[in-house]
Amino acid sequence: MELQKLEFLKHLVRFNRHVYLDHNATTPMSPYVRRKMTRVMERHYGNPSSLYGIARKSAELLERARRQVADAIHAAPDEIYFTSCATESNNAVLQSVSAHFTPGRNKIISTPIEHPSVLNTLAHLEAQGVIVEYCPVDDKGRLLLDELEQRIDADTFMVCCILANNETGVIQDIRAVAEIARQHGALVLTDCVQALGKIPIDAHEWGVDYATFSAHKLYGPKGVGALYVKHGSPFAPLLHGGHQESGQRAGTEGLHNIVGFGAACQEVNALLADAGETRALRRLLIRRLQSIKPDCIINSPEEAACLPNTLSVTFPGVENAELMAMLDYYGVAVSAGSACSTGEDAPSHVLKAMGISDQAARQTIRFSLGRDTSAADIRYAAKVIRDFIAGRMPFVHMMTPAQLNETILFDERTFILDVRPPDDRKRYKGLPNSHEVAPLHVENYLKQIPRDKRILVYCPGGGLSVMVSYYLKAKGFTRVINLRGGLDGWRERRGDLYQKYAGQNVRVLQPDETAGVR
Ligand code: PLP
Repeated sequence: MELQKLEFLKHLVRFNRHVYLDHNATTPMSPYVRRKMTRVMERHYGNPSSLYGIARKSAELLERARRQVADAIHAAPDEIYFTSCATESNNAVLQSVSAHFTPGRNKIISTPIEHPSVLNTLAHLEAQGVIVEYCPVDDKGRLLLDELEQRIDADTFMVCCILANNETGVIQDIRAVAEIARQHGALVLTDCVQALGKIPIDAHEWGVDYATFSAHKLYGPKGVGALYVKHGSPFAPLLHGGHQESGQRAGTEGLHNIVGFGAACQEVNALLADAGETRALRRLLIRRLQSIKPDCIINSPEEAACLPNTLSVTFPGVENAELMAMLDYYGVAVSAGSACSTGEDAPSHVLKAMGISDQAARQTIRFSLGRDTSAADIRYAAKVIRDFIAGRMPFVHMMTPAQLNETILFDERTFILDVRPPDDRKRYKGLPNSHEVAPLHVENYLKQIPRDKRILVYCPGGGLSVMVSYYLKAKGFTRVINLRGGLDGWRERRGDLYQKYAGQNVRVLQPDETAGVR
């Protein structure tokens, strides 16, 4: 009885522990920001563009927030435009400058380690005839400035360089980049999304033309970004409509979000003052990981060239999807650097650009600490990793594509669970006898998943399914098997079986509460 009680307590502790080490994905909202935003939502509903009293108050709050953002990055308030997110800010600059201001010049130079909001916009521009060149980085992700000097020419109208990388934390020498660009008459865009609140930013001193920001990376709300456009630098709006934001970005302002962004910027100095402590915790994490797995590889650069909170580590021989899913099972949130939750499961383009192999990229985890991270959090995360690596964890079984044969596919004791996203289901037929569920809401189907069978879970690449597998373990399903490499791997490896059986007898499950209702 006592033992049972102890087990139950352990279970409670395990599932109540939450360690968030994914602050580069997003941050929890600051209580101060929340208070400011709530006040606006409760009281200040006036449209800042209208003329009467409550609207004038809204306009005043809007301008105050603009000043707060400007102060945080050392810019003038009339150089700041609010947008819906940093993705919009990056799009606005790249698209506007390419379309309107490039007579006689047709080339953008960027880096291979930009955020997808830049890379995919560049791909779009390339399809429209803009020449895009990517300047290589070294094995720590630092831009090779002499390569930039060699590539930049009279045809180059813009250099676009991320200030601090979201996956490794590497910080670029943006002053030097801006200086090289200036000498060739090119404009400079820098994505500062990950940097604000972590390292000092001085837009004026750096001499960049454009810089982009997002509130949710510094304890502010999601759905609001900012764009810095230096006085005199060319810019035309991406969104056309009303005259908001001095005619540079149409659409009624989301005042609560903008005020939240301003409030978050008021806390920037306090965040910067915390950087030393964060750096110390990052060192503790490195020490622990190196003692657990001495052959682990730190991909982030040395401290002086790295964000204080970010650490990218490769664990040779350990699949990141499995480690991440197991950490999730124990309440620890980290990121793998590959978009497996969307089913892509492609190795990180950032790590690849640094010369890291696909295999090593798939063994890499990103830890990103925040202002609430404690030494106890780091010790807990490290302990979970130690137990996993030592093989002391409850285990989700893995099946390789080669092992998945007809006997398993048609065995009545196997229940096949398809957790692929809808677009993948449109592209490829699933395993025979699959049960399709909404991949991000597996909790709605638990009553329909039999507890007396072995559950074979699959997704396109094996990343999302491993998370679901651990979730099912946590929900008491004893025999859970993940298809490593996913349907993509099986199609490749067992094309013969795929041709013969894919799509046979597939069932779409309805969520539990609606199951049986027609
Ligand atoms: N740039 C970087 C470096 C980022 O990390 C992100 C978000 O992850 C973005 C841009 C996009 O920001 P938003 O979510 O505001 O569109």
